[in-house]
Amino acid sequence: MANEQLPGFIMCVCTGKCPGFQKMDIWDFINQVRVELPVEYAFIHPQLCEVDGDRFLADYLKAHRKVIIGACAPNMQKKMFQQAFQDAGLSLEKDAIMIDIRDMTTEEAYQKVEKALENLKEREKKEA
Ligand code: SF4
Repeated sequence: MANEQLPGFIMCVCTGKCPGFQKMDIWDFINQVRVELPVEYAFIHPQLCEVDGDRFLADYLKAHRKVIIGACAPNMQKKMFQQAFQDAGLSLEKDAIMIDIRDMTTEEAYQKVEKALENLKEREKKEA
């Protein structure tokens, strides 16, 4: 994959009913990320760990675009999404950064995504 390709950002909002996302304005958050940060695009998925989420991820990963996923605990995400990355011939360690953005304000979550993007860039520099 070309290094200059920007990553995608997926926010999983846990059906929209999870109290973990009540401190932030999810629409302000996703709009700030997609407009202000160096991502190819950013969007919200309602429940990435459900069966339709699996189907979506399988399609998304076919493009071999790096991805930052903002959702629940990274360890949980890794367990849930490992197979999808493997099936797509990708590596969780190289091609993705999972971050926990629950119980954060809009600004805190935004800063966490910003930091994850910097980390991804650093990683790419080391790999180059
Ligand atoms: S991936 Fe995490 S945040 Fe998304 S629906 Fe599943 S448990 Fe909730």
